[in-house]
Amino acid sequence: MNRKEYTDTSKQIIEIVYTRRQITRKDLAEATGLSSLTVVKNIAALIGDGVIEETETLNTIKGRKPLFLSPNPDYGYVIGIDVGSYSIKMGIVDFSGRIIEKKEVIDEFNSGFPSSILDFSELRSHIAALADKYGAEKLLGIGVGITGLVNNNTQTIVFCPNIRGYNNLAISSALQEQFKVPVLVDTSARCMALGEMFFGGGERRRQPPDDASGELSFVSVGHSIAVGTIIGGKIFRGVNGFAGELGHVKAVMGEQKVCTCGSYNCIEGYVTLPEIKNALVGKLNEFRGYSLLKEKIENSGDISYEDMANAVSMGDKVAVECFGETIEKLSIVLADYVNLFNPASLVLGGGFFDMFPFVLPELERELQKQCLTPSLWGIKLGISELSVDGAIKGSAMQIIQTMWE
Ligand SMILES: [Zn+2]
Repeated sequence: MNRKEYTDTSKQIIEIVYTRRQITRKDLAEATGLSSLTVVKNIAALIGDGVIEETETLNTIKGRKPLFLSPNPDYGYVIGIDVGSYSIKMGIVDFSGRIIEKKEVIDEFNSGFPSSILDFSELRSHIAALADKYGAEKLLGIGVGITGLVNNNTQTIVFCPNIRGYNNLAISSALQEQFKVPVLVDTSARCMALGEMFFGGGERRRQPPDDASGELSFVSVGHSIAVGTIIGGKIFRGVNGFAGELGHVKAVMGEQKVCTCGSYNCIEGYVTLPEIKNALVGKLNEFRGYSLLKEKIENSGDISYEDMANAVSMGDKVAVECFGETIEKLSIVLADYVNLFNPASLVLGGGFFDMFPFVLPELERELQKQCLTPSLWGIKLGISELSVDGAIKGSAMQIIQTMWE
């Protein structure tokens, strides 16, 4: 779709309406410092263009219904995609940030490392099917998040060791050429941080914008580990775009475990979903007592992540010990991060926290032991409630944000 180029004033208005979700003209004038006349004129134009809509509230004060301004969901849609090591999630996200349709393609055959879920040409046909279904005229763009090293300046996936077919790929220009819309790519963790800031618990930190710190860190733990850091409302990427590779921070001394990056003793060698399972299976094989999990492995040859979670909740000695060691290692790295960045909030997400949310209290206790006490003052620590949707919405937000950036 052809997008209009807006003036800085209009962009400022769009941003505030977007981040507040519902705001009156009067509050908008106050928040922007613009005159009421300027606000009224710009809003009329933006409503005419379909960017903003007027909504009525049910709260009536003396019979008058104040009119609120909100992002118009029908303005257009974005295709949000998250390319992970075990699954690729994609969805149609409307302009207000609601997911209209989503699908997830899972590596059911556990194709190993690197996994082969969908190669790039297969991904293209999935995107084409979605674009065809919803129509090119309302497509605002495509936002991609991927588990790997991304150079945001060149919009290239530099290194993607976990998934076959995405290494050294100029993904944005390839998709842009095919679909004739803006395409943006970044790491999954940064996209999840964006999703959290706009639609998760982080949303609160943006309201009202004048006192919002815009500081948020999203740690994703699944088949890999990474952090998305937002400072002053902006994603922090580092000079070449590779900041946030928390998975390759060393967590263990002495032991020499080779990581997928080629170095030794990185936290990713111990605390990803498959590594935790490997560690637990190893411990169970050595365990001589009775364990339901051990019996399950002997009978069916395998255990699932659900089995592992159930075993911990039932107090299985080996499982409890294994998770204890996992949390200890993870907390070392998280404490290093907290001591370095002193974030306002540390949001935890990804498959590990979706699957094993019970680790949070133990992790909190470990952080209290390991962090400098003042670094934890007032920190908002919690597990993201957005789950898979956060990755899809966050990837799409890369495009939506360009409306005011
Ligand atoms: Zn590494």
